[in-house]
Formats: sequence, structure tokens, C-alpha cells
Amino acid sequence: MKTKNSAALFSQACQVIPGGVNSPVRACKSVGCDPLFVAKAQGCTITDADGNEFIDFVGSWGPMILGHGHPEVIKAICETAPHGTSFGAPTALEVELAELVCDSVPSMEKVRFVSSGTEATMSAVRLARGYTGRKVIVKFDGCYHGHADSFLVKAGSGVITLGIPGSPGVPEDIVKNTLSIPYNNIEILEKTLRDASLDIACVIIEPVAGNMGVIVPELAFLRKLRELTAELGIVLIFDEVITGFRLALGGAQERFGILPDLTCLGKIIGGGLPVGAYGGKKAIMDLVSPVGPVYQAGTLSGNPLAMAAGLAMLKVVRRPGFYEELEEKSSWFAEKLAAIGAAAPVPTVLNRIGSMMTCFFTDAPVTDFVSAMKSNTEHYGQHFRQMLASGIWLAPSQFEAAFVSAAHDRTHLQKALDATVASLTKLAAA
Ligand SMILES: *Cc1c(COP(=O)(O)O)cnc(C)c1O
Repeated sequence: MKTKNSAALFSQACQVIPGGVNSPVRACKSVGCDPLFVAKAQGCTITDADGNEFIDFVGSWGPMILGHGHPEVIKAICETAPHGTSFGAPTALEVELAELVCDSVPSMEKVRFVSSGTEATMSAVRLARGYTGRKVIVKFDGCYHGHADSFLVKAGSGVITLGIPGSPGVPEDIVKNTLSIPYNNIEILEKTLRDASLDIACVIIEPVAGNMGVIVPELAFLRKLRELTAELGIVLIFDEVITGFRLALGGAQERFGILPDLTCLGKIIGGGLPVGAYGGKKAIMDLVSPVGPVYQAGTLSGNPLAMAAGLAMLKVVRRPGFYEELEEKSSWFAEKLAAIGAAAPVPTVLNRIGSMMTCFFTDAPVTDFVSAMKSNTEHYGQHFRQMLASGIWLAPSQFEAAFVSAAHDRTHLQKALDATVASLTKLAAA
């Protein structure tokens, strides 16, 4: 595989951008190589700066559920741009997308658009604190909610990948109001939430964890979380930045039939442009300024290009049969993958729900942060490099999801399965 152009771009980038990347997970450090620079992508194919082509299972870390360059999304962007790219005043597109979001996501009555998932989660937490008049937030070990100060406690995604316990630059004063407890553990959950001395404003959770690799919660755990928070007047926030419009039109909350008070969205909702959103019950959302006193604002919020792209994307996923087809394809793929893993010379565990999955290099079930961390990241790194060499683009970290998109067909998926067999065999030989 030629990497001359990517290597040259990377060394140039390192001079002017920290680590040569604008988001740390892109750096590929944990898998023992340098990043490939992308030239273009179409459907499920991504092409790097040296002209190498790969089948993409990263999908820009979640947004590209239709694959890259979907004609309806591109058309919407191209038709919107000539009318102006930002006004700092409301537009019809925002209203239309807000109506579509509230109609799709069962617990959302009102929604506020922002420009990233991080902005959505930090704003939702501020709102929960404003609404309850309490201070403490509870999160779960290995869940990632963006890079705002209060979430960088036992966080997932790049924070695990790079082995950072918290982050310098985040004052003790801030993190002392964040409690992180184990995912899927009902006993610790109940004990923590019932401790009245804690002054808990909200619990924020990924209703399916995607940032320590995919971990599907036990239904009893999620139900208990809903029951307890309702009983104790604690705001329950579902961070559906990955799962929203991924697991169902109405996200994990629709799939599990459990409704949070507030929901955070991102990734898919922007059709590949920068968008986030938070929303929920009117009684809580009407505390947001200018109706209420909880301040939150954004110069580019509700940006017309991003709204147009998001609208086009949502219109496609709302068509009858979209999620059924994606589920059918993903379950076919995952069953084959699990069988390959089971026959492999090194132990693997496949976790999957819908079109998101992670193959962990470990021999025991992965149900929380501690069990995820038992994975053999050396094996993953080698597997990553071998898959890349066979034309399969996986996330450069064990602790991330692989996504199947509407653009993957059986031929693409079969190629990935064949590459997996070859790679796992070589792992054992090493
Ligand atoms: C990606 C992600 C975020 C952060 O979104 P950004 O757009 O990267 O700021 C928050 N929560 C979850 C669950 C995510 O996967």
C-alpha cells in the first residue's frame, strides 16, 4: 500500500496542528501507525491521498448512516448554499427539522439545535442543574459525552484509547461534582441515587454504550434507572448522539421503550455537517433562554446548510423499511462475524445491536468498562493494520464501534468477512 502522500501531509500537519489531527482518535497512535489522509468518499468507499480505496466501517464515527455523498443530502446542500450560508436569524429550515425531530423521537416535545454533540450534552446538564437547583451529575465509567470539563471523569472514546484518567486543565472544583459509577450495575446505581446527601441533578447515560466499544445495557438496569430517577426527581438524560436515528428512528428510547427527560443528539442529525441538539419535555425546555433563565446560545446554531443536510438525511431514514433493511443486513453480517470470531485462534467477543458492533479481543463477556479494558489491544492494533492492508477501514481503537450503513451491500460485507478470517489467522501465527 502506497502511503507517500499521507506521510508527507502528516509531517506537514504535525508542524501546525497538535499531533497533526483535529481530534485525537484520528491519530492512530494506539494501533501503531500514522493516519491516512482522506481525499474523498462515496457510498461505503473511502479513498486516501495516495489513491488507496477502503470499505469504510467508521462512517465518520457515526453520522454516515446513508454512506458518503448520498445524492439527496448533497443536492440539499448544493441547493441551499447559493441562498446564503449563515444569517444569525431564524429560518424555515430550522422549524422543519425541529418538527421532524420531535415527531421522530418519542420523548422530545421541544428541541434546541447546537453545533456539536459536546455542546448538546453540556447544555443539557446545565439545564438539568437549572431545573432541579442541584449540583451533582452522575455518569457511567467508560461512557463518553463529549469533551466538556465535567464529563472528563473515567470517560470513554479517545480518553480510554490514550489511557488518560481525567485531563489536566480540568479543575478539581468541577469534577468533584461528577460521580462516575459502573455501567450495568443496578446495586451501585440504587445506592448512589438514593444517597440524599449527594444533591444529584441528573444522570447522563449512553443508552447503548458506544465509546468503550459497543455494550448493550441490560433492560432491567435501564428500567431501574428510569424508575429511580423519576421517583427521586433526578433528570434522566439519554445521550443518543450515536444511537439517535441509528438504532431506530426514535433511537434507543424507542427500541427499548424507556423514555428519558432530556435527549442529546448529534452525528446523524446533521447529515455529515456539524449539528447537535438537545430536547425533551416542554416543562424543562421552557427554562432555556429566551423563555427561561438558563442561558445557552450559538452564532452558527441552526446553520442553514447543516439543517438542509440533516433534513435530507432524516427524510431518507424515515422511509418505510429503512431500519428493517439495515437490521437484516447488520444481523447477517454480525452472525458471520461472530462465527469467524468463535473459530479464530485468539479469543474474541462480538457485541452488537442494530447496525453498531464491536469485536473485542477478550474471552469473557463485555458488559462494562472493567470487562472492556481486559481486551488485548495489541491484538486489536495488529488486526487493524492487517484489515487496512486488505482494504477495510476500521476505527483506530479497540474501544469504538463499527458501523454498517445503508450503502454497504452483501459484496462489501463479504469482503470484510474474508479479510477478517485472513487477519485473525495471522494474529495467532504472530
Ligand atoms: C461523539 C459523541 C459525543 C460528542 O459529540 P461531538 O460532536 O464529537 O462533540 C457525545 N456523546 C456521544 C455518545 C458521542 O458518541
